[in-house]
Amino acid sequence: MASNTLDLLGRLESIQSDAWIKNCAIVQSIPVEVGRSSFGNLSIEETWKLHNELHERFKESRIKPNSLPYATGISYHDVKTRLARHMLASCSFCERKCSVDRVSGKKGSCGVGIEPRVCSAFLHFGEESPLVPSGTIFFAGCNFKCAFCQNDDISTDPSNGHVVTADALAKIAMDLGREGAKNINYVGGDPTPNMHLILESMKLQQKPVAQLWNSNFYNTVDAIKLLMDVMDIWLPDLKYGNNECAKRLSGIDEYWTVVTRNLKLVHDEMAIKGWASLVIRHLVLPGHIDCCSIPCMEWIAKNLPHAMVNVMAQYRPQHLVLSNPGKYKEITRRPTYEEIDTVRKAATSLGICWKPVS
Ligand code: SF4
Repeated sequence: MASNTLDLLGRLESIQSDAWIKNCAIVQSIPVEVGRSSFGNLSIEETWKLHNELHERFKESRIKPNSLPYATGISYHDVKTRLARHMLASCSFCERKCSVDRVSGKKGSCGVGIEPRVCSAFLHFGEESPLVPSGTIFFAGCNFKCAFCQNDDISTDPSNGHVVTADALAKIAMDLGREGAKNINYVGGDPTPNMHLILESMKLQQKPVAQLWNSNFYNTVDAIKLLMDVMDIWLPDLKYGNNECAKRLSGIDEYWTVVTRNLKLVHDEMAIKGWASLVIRHLVLPGHIDCCSIPCMEWIAKNLPHAMVNVMAQYRPQHLVLSNPGKYKEITRRPTYEEIDTVRKAATSLGICWKPVS
């Protein structure tokens, strides 16, 4: 095995071990040196400024563990949850930027209300082998409209499942940890519309296991900043190699621009320093090798040397592709062996670490 592969796998294993200090525990340990009433009176601009200063202190504490006093009052984590609640009131968790007031009950494109709904939570043994057993929590609703969605029963029905509070979500996570989960895997649908409650629940998890963000990664930069220092493992998709295929098949604008920006941000801020692991999922779509798969592999090889890639071969026609095959003709079949082989050979020749997670 190449040394880069061993390094990346070793880091992932270490992040999931008991000995590794989880990022969310560090974030909770960084004190905010203002009184509770002063904190409550800060404007949103001042709170963001404080957040960015505390991000620098997070970096210091990752470089020099135990260099900071343990927060007994307000912590960096509270700054994040406050900002997330503020964003919810004019929702900009993702680049759809619906700007609806979800606090007062309005809903945006994803259809998710203020209260997240969990459809199921269990130890998942079908995820990437270094990640299993993965304590997977499936949320209802999604900000994408993928014609081929493989989870359309929950992604298209935000009223699926049952409402959870931050306490209940923390209990689900801790139960999964006790059952042997190596990580808590927030997924859906997509976890993005629920990030306010996910952040709040983390503070209530005692002895947290590694926190994993399993998402289409269409977040705004501010949303990524809130998640940045608390997630230990990033498991984002890179589905398309251009904006046009994404618009046609997922109804999304500026896909390539947004997702590559976010990948680069997380890679450069966290993965490159070894403070988090980055595993990218690329689902090989039939007929999309030249326009999507190869450009994705080339871009990853050039820009994200500290990422691993799951080259996924399990695509099957589902959802709108079955009900309207004429509109989605090229993806009404499974990818051929030759198509999968072409992508995997390209990944190998580009030096991408993909085998241990595919
Ligand atoms: S999370 Fe939902 S409501 Fe918020 S911006 Fe995205 S699609 Fe709109």
